[in-house]
Formats: sequence, structure tokens, C-alpha cells
Amino acid sequence: MKALVYHGPQKISWEEKPKPTIQQTTDAIIRISKTTICGTDLHILKGDVPEVTDGRILGHEGVGIVEETGSSVTRFKKGDHVLISCITSCAKCDYCKRGMYSHCENGGWILGHLIDGTQAEYTRIPFADTSLYPIPEGSDEEALVMLSDILPTGFECGVLNGQVKPGDTVAIVGSGPIGLAALITAQLYTPSKIIMIDPDDNRLAVSMKLGATHTINNKKENAIEKVKEITWKKGVDTVIEAVGIPETFELCQSLVGPGGRIANIGVHGKTVDLHLETLWSQNITITTRLVDTVTTPMLMKTVLSKKLNSSQLITHHFELPDIIHAYDTFQHADREKALKVILTNPAA
Ligand SMILES: [Zn+2]
Ligand SMILES: [Zn+2]
Repeated sequence: MKALVYHGPQKISWEEKPKPTIQQTTDAIIRISKTTICGTDLHILKGDVPEVTDGRILGHEGVGIVEETGSSVTRFKKGDHVLISCITSCAKCDYCKRGMYSHCENGGWILGHLIDGTQAEYTRIPFADTSLYPIPEGSDEEALVMLSDILPTGFECGVLNGQVKPGDTVAIVGSGPIGLAALITAQLYTPSKIIMIDPDDNRLAVSMKLGATHTINNKKENAIEKVKEITWKKGVDTVIEAVGIPETFELCQSLVGPGGRIANIGVHGKTVDLHLETLWSQNITITTRLVDTVTTPMLMKTVLSKKLNSSQLITHHFELPDIIHAYDTFQHADREKALKVILTNPAA
């Protein structure tokens, strides 16, 4: 089969690899029909994720069709359409039992990281019964690709940890795919204001279409003053960090109001200052989380019933063998006005 293979920083190629086979009785082999590229894949390409070694097939998102199942898989059979979760869950360890699949002792985020991933014609999914989700017949499978990672990530790490409630004011720093996923899922709770903050005018325009009430270009405007203006000098109830650099996390600390929450989603690689000299008396909460994907079944119902329109995040389409071109587009997201790209396997 063909797959997108990582060969060290900045080196990827679309090349021949052996088709995966069942290794454990709990495995399933999936023929990929649609997959996508994540910001995390770009981090890997930069060399930021050293556990990803030469020869690894990348990708942790996608939908496909079950090709083969191990002898103890009971929930799926050959021919079933399935959503692949970015998080693999054994459902038996202490963390899985607490609903913290992200820290599963036998899984967690391993796809396209510690084991071969989904940017391929076929992929092997461990613990298939508890790491795949059945897709009902006639579903918009492209919209469901957004459920492998970004929708549960925006929702669990941003909206749930940020405890967004009806009438609340919310600021989201960063309006890339994850910030936008937080924006659309925050609306499940009808906050009164959602302020999107980003230096890219195109992304801010998209935010307005997806339900933001205010946008701030923090390259041209003073975000702290503008948020004060919009929130009657109070600051926001929830601020969601969806970038992952010190400047944006510090900005969040200046935007949160008394009693508010800072919910971090961003992947941070550098030390950040915590301004306890101003925050110690403000009754605030700071949360961090790796997505657990415990809300995937609920989110799937809201997408299938069209209460959430996740396909709005898709801007580009490519055929899977054209994935190198898709990576180039996604790496130049500003220039290409790219959010999520969909790769379709012509052979599926
Ligand atoms: Zn991802
Ligand atoms: Zn587990």
C-alpha cells in the first residue's frame, strides 16, 4: 500500500509500505476513505515531537471501512463504516475507567506518533472496540472527520474545562481550526458574547460566519482594551487559549475577569510567566487537558442531526496520493486561506 512516511525533520514522502496486519486479537485493519492533516503533524515535521521516528506513517484522524478484525473484536465487522478517534483507549486501565482516555496506559495518543497512523491506504487500530465509532449509513463522512480530533479537543479542553455557561462572556485567543472548533461548540451553551482574537483577518471573517459576536485583530488593535470595552470593564468569564505560545497565554491572563476560567488548549514548548501578583486575589481557575474524546459520541449526534455544522471548517480537498501538495497548502495556511483539508482515498 501507499502511505505518507516521516523521515526526520522536514522530510516526508508518499511511498510504498507493507499493508498492516492484525497483531493483537483486539486490532482492526481499516481501509481509509478520508483523512486530514493536523497542526500536530506540522509540529512533528518541524522536529518538535522527537518520539516520532524515521519510517513512521503520520496521521491520527480519519474515517474508513473495516477490512479485517481480530478474533476478540465484537462491535465491528468487515464492511462497517467507522470514525477513527485520535486517542486509543483500552477501556480497562485506571485512567480509562476515569474517562481519561488521553492517559490510557495501553494507548492514548499513539496513532501517527508511536505507531503508524491514518495518512495511508490502510491503518491498524488497536483496541478497535473502544477506539472506533460506528458511522450510520448515509452520513456526511467529511463532516465526521472533524470529530477524530479537533471538535472534541475544542469542546473538552476549551468549552468544558472553561465551564462556558448561558449568558457568559467568552474570549478565544487563536482562530485556527482548534479555536474555531471551540467557537462552534461553545455555542451549545449560548454564551452572550464570543470574542475571537487572531492576527489573521481572513480567519476573523470566518469566525464571524461561524457565530463570533466580536473579533479583534491583535496585530492592529489592543486586545486588552477592546475586551474591557466589550465586557463593561469586567474581563471575560472564560478565556480559551488555542495557540500555544507564551504571548498568547499571557494575554489570556489579562483578559480573564474575577471568578473566570483560563482553559488552555495550546501545545506549549516554552516556559510561560504566571502573573500571580495580579491573579492571586481574582478567584480564577486555570485548566490544562489533553483531549480524552469522551464526548465524541455526543458530538457525533449533534453533527449528524445538523445542530453543529463541522463541515464549515473544511476549506480544501485533495486526493490522498496528492498528500504532499496538501501538506504544502496546510503549511501555508495564511496564504492559502486553509483551515482543514480533506484527503480522499480514490481506491476506497
Ligand atoms: Zn490532531
Ligand atoms: Zn486504558
